[in-house]
Amino acid sequence: MNLIICEKNIAAKRIASILSGGSSKQKKIGSVPVYDFSSNGMDWKVVGLRGHIINLDFPSKFKIWWRIAPRNLISIDPEKRVTQKGIASALKKLLNDDVSVIVATDFDREGELIGVEAIDLVKKYNSNVSKIKRAHFSAITPSEIKDAFAQLTEVDYNLSAAGESRQVIDLIWGAVLTRFISLTSNKTGKEFLSVGRVQSPTLALLVEKEKEIQAFKPKPYWKIIAQLKKENGFEADHKNGRFWDKKEVTSIFEKIKDAEEAKVTSVEKKKRKEQPPAPFNTTSFIQAASYVRVSAAQAMKTAEELYMNGLISYPRTDNTVYPKSLDLDEILTKFKNSEFGDDVNEVLQHRRSKPMRGKKKTTDHPPIHPVDLPKKPLSGRSKKVYDLIVRRFLATLCEDALSETIHATFDIKNEPFKAKGYRLIEPRWRKIYNYIKTKEKPLPSLEEGDNIFVSKMLLKEDETKPPNRYSQGTLIGKMEDLSLGTKSTRHDIINKLYQRKYITFSPFAPTPLAVAVIDSMSDCDVVNPKMTAELEKDMDLIAEGKKTLDETIDESRKMLTKVMQELEKDKQKIKKNIKEASLKQNTIGTCPACGKDLVIRMSRRGKRFVGCTGYPKCKNTYPLPQRGVIIKTDTVCETCKTPVVQLKTRGKKPWDLCIDPDCASKENDKQKKDNKNKN
Ligand SMILES: [Zn+2]
Ligand SMILES: [Zn+2]
Repeated sequence: MNLIICEKNIAAKRIASILSGGSSKQKKIGSVPVYDFSSNGMDWKVVGLRGHIINLDFPSKFKIWWRIAPRNLISIDPEKRVTQKGIASALKKLLNDDVSVIVATDFDREGELIGVEAIDLVKKYNSNVSKIKRAHFSAITPSEIKDAFAQLTEVDYNLSAAGESRQVIDLIWGAVLTRFISLTSNKTGKEFLSVGRVQSPTLALLVEKEKEIQAFKPKPYWKIIAQLKKENGFEADHKNGRFWDKKEVTSIFEKIKDAEEAKVTSVEKKKRKEQPPAPFNTTSFIQAASYVRVSAAQAMKTAEELYMNGLISYPRTDNTVYPKSLDLDEILTKFKNSEFGDDVNEVLQHRRSKPMRGKKKTTDHPPIHPVDLPKKPLSGRSKKVYDLIVRRFLATLCEDALSETIHATFDIKNEPFKAKGYRLIEPRWRKIYNYIKTKEKPLPSLEEGDNIFVSKMLLKEDETKPPNRYSQGTLIGKMEDLSLGTKSTRHDIINKLYQRKYITFSPFAPTPLAVAVIDSMSDCDVVNPKMTAELEKDMDLIAEGKKTLDETIDESRKMLTKVMQELEKDKQKIKKNIKEASLKQNTIGTCPACGKDLVIRMSRRGKRFVGCTGYPKCKNTYPLPQRGVIIKTDTVCETCKTPVVQLKTRGKKPWDLCIDPDCASKENDKQKKDNKNKN
């Protein structure tokens, strides 16, 4: 009997259907589906896991925080525990003495580890099982799956060890640092402060940027703009660009403000070829997902679903170069009679001699590309993400776009002006991958020596702008540059920071508490990306078989011991900083009854409300909405003088709210509601 073990049930179902030519039958062991078929006189059974079926954690006696000093946790070995008992017992029942096991989980560190976890269980349940093979594929399509099972390989224990080292190191670091910071600052229970090896240096990047923005002092500058007219109106700027001196710019403007004519002094036209983008890897895909307003975590989740359903190739890849073995023509043919037909025709008529390629080349998986058309039309986020991947793929095969830029210069009463025009001549891939909006800026036909009519001269004042915040996409790019996390984990790290209330999504910025946590650890290596990058390198070496799991974990323990020595020295500073920041973060204004501070508190049942720091003398309290982020506004309600807070709920516009539910300004709303209820 052959037993195929897949990463998830949906993959098991598709793989069984492909290998059996559609004749597989679903049975159930307990609640776990198993797909049965026979082929070449052999029985096959296919079962799906639920990702990891084993969890790594400290022995239960160390789970109570105050029972062990955080630093003593460093040397404790975590234990493995089966978390998916139903799947484990189904595996046990499927084993007999002549079973051959084929691991068909995702092909990367995480997938290899998931496979090895299952093998360990198999061996525990039946030590006679010795035939174990591995199937490698990059897409769940008939041709890939059939090829993979025709050329089975061996399980790569180095790869799974690299995955396991990440699990162990992240567990130890996370537990030790989180417990230390939380206990030091008296934040335990629901409000604990999480600290982690990848998480904290990432948060430090956001904090650093926020400080740059806060420290930024805008500088005023002036620009002189000439509104010109020939056929249509267009604008020219003074060649100097920004003027920093008001006196200088005013004297020039005074001289030319009544000008009626601009003389064309030069016209230069340049044709330019514009290359299509490189094929998608995980990072560039996540970055591009923002074009269709899909966040990093949502983009990966959707891509994984599309992969499991056999529509796109494996979405976790660093590769940006199509391998020779990938049949690009076959994919084009498949998409010719689809809604992408016109785009495919554009590619066929203007196909580039070699497809675009990016800088990173790996051999595990191809760049993310479409592999099939959906059987049922997709909708919502799935459609957006799928279309993005199809259009990117088609664009990478298309010829360069051709555009023209025109630089013209003018003379207005002996002052030099310039104008720039841009137009697309042959859009090519830009028409297919239409997410990057190019602003066409046409100029009328101009000849040297022409006199152009000046309709108006403008003196505009503006000021320099602070540096841009990160977007999720640019942060993931920066994390990649600094080797923080991996293609599979970066989007999760950002989501974790949000869940821990360290960041808000709009704007994408750290909260005051996050700033305090990072500041209090700023003298310590734990917020420095260097150390984390070093550990990532060690994990790569494990995957290559050049270092062992134990060596790497030992080294990480030594590093963490040093980090803890640094942190323990700063204990008092950490305590003070975080206490002040959390009070500041929770203070929302002044109590109208007694003049003391109003702060956000938690009730014993875990519900938030506003209480007065004058308690027990002042018993003033206000209820709060339980969902969304509450932000201090420094304003009070015009009607009742109670503090106003801003409520931000994901996907909704921020909303200013007077915290007093009995405020007279709400009478109208209440009446409307009451009337509605009556009707
Ligand atoms: Zn009060
Ligand atoms: Zn009010």
